[in-house]
Amino acid sequence: MADQMTSATVAIHSLAAEKKARGETVYNFAAGDPILSSHPRVLEAVHHAIDTEFILYSPVAGIPELKKEAAAWMNAQYNCSYTEDNTLVTAGGKFCLFAAMQILLKSGDEVLIPAPYWVSYPQIAELFKATPVILQTEERLEWKLTPETLKNHITPRSKILILNNAGNPTGTLYSKEELKELLLIAKERDLFVISDEVYSHIVYDGKPFISCGELSDNVLIVQSCSKNFAMTGWRVGFAFGPRELIRSMTALQGQSTTGASTVSQWAALAALKHRTEISSAVQNTLCKRRDFFFDTFNQLFHCQLKKPPAGLYAFIPLFLFKTTKTSSEFCTELIAKRNIACIPGIAFGKEGYIRMAFSEEEEMLLKGLKALREVIEP
Ligand code: PLP
Repeated sequence: MADQMTSATVAIHSLAAEKKARGETVYNFAAGDPILSSHPRVLEAVHHAIDTEFILYSPVAGIPELKKEAAAWMNAQYNCSYTEDNTLVTAGGKFCLFAAMQILLKSGDEVLIPAPYWVSYPQIAELFKATPVILQTEERLEWKLTPETLKNHITPRSKILILNNAGNPTGTLYSKEELKELLLIAKERDLFVISDEVYSHIVYDGKPFISCGELSDNVLIVQSCSKNFAMTGWRVGFAFGPRELIRSMTALQGQSTTGASTVSQWAALAALKHRTEISSAVQNTLCKRRDFFFDTFNQLFHCQLKKPPAGLYAFIPLFLFKTTKTSSEFCTELIAKRNIACIPGIAFGKEGYIRMAFSEEEEMLLKGLKALREVIEP
């Protein structure tokens, strides 16, 4: 399943890279990064660390100062009550998901995944011989998993529920009441919850972000500097959760990656210490890009697409492009003929849509959207 779904995405990324290498302009709506420079505070801290620290192995679970600051961040920002024993620093949020699933899953277990989902969830579950069970959600319900859908898919083999709040690719943002209800069902039915919260600071229009860590002890929170502080390439993520699980994940990390890069951990420490300043700079820039993207799109395509409350992406129905093609065929044509890189909805488990990132600079967004308009009405 996973191979088929990702092949079009891989082909689109490779074609985009080939075209770029040939010096062609590629309109990049396929990015998963906030396209922003690392904040000067992060860079200063790294220069300082290189000048004054020995850059050697860090403890496997992370530099103690960083673990402490990370737990303090979750506690102050999201009403959690984590200690350093509940905290692990990893090489990106993705490794938290990988390590947790490797530890928790055995062959034949079922992992409940609301769709549209981030592409890696089913693929990681399959690596450990578990079965991804896809729970479809609906656009008219803001792509939120409903308690009924969850209940209807739980079987004796269900082991993990993955929640992604705020969501990629739809920008879905759950309220406290909605999360409480889902967590209660999970508790009653003995499901362990992994809550992927790597977009927690990329929330717009003053809406509150609620962490599942505030509401339940029986949950693993996946966090990261990648999106929140525009630091994708530094590769620093965090797991927060029950001590036993964190201990097992630390042991796994000790025999695999050994931990996140030490230099990057100093960068992450600076980002967390200056989190208010950095995350609001990132959020403000992305909010402007979101508004610019949607205002321009709605004007060019004569429609009323709603702006998502969070995230970096527009999840757009194909009917707006007057095409009968599948999402993979449409995206392949866009990159091949017009150098426009988008990701097909099927990669996220939802046919009939494409994902366009609005995280690039406005000039590129404008040129790319105009090029897209010309494809639709030459
Ligand atoms: N979770 C979601 C929903 C994502 O979109 C991504 C990256 O695109 C990740 C996790 C992984 O982030 P990282 O490994 O860079 O921390």
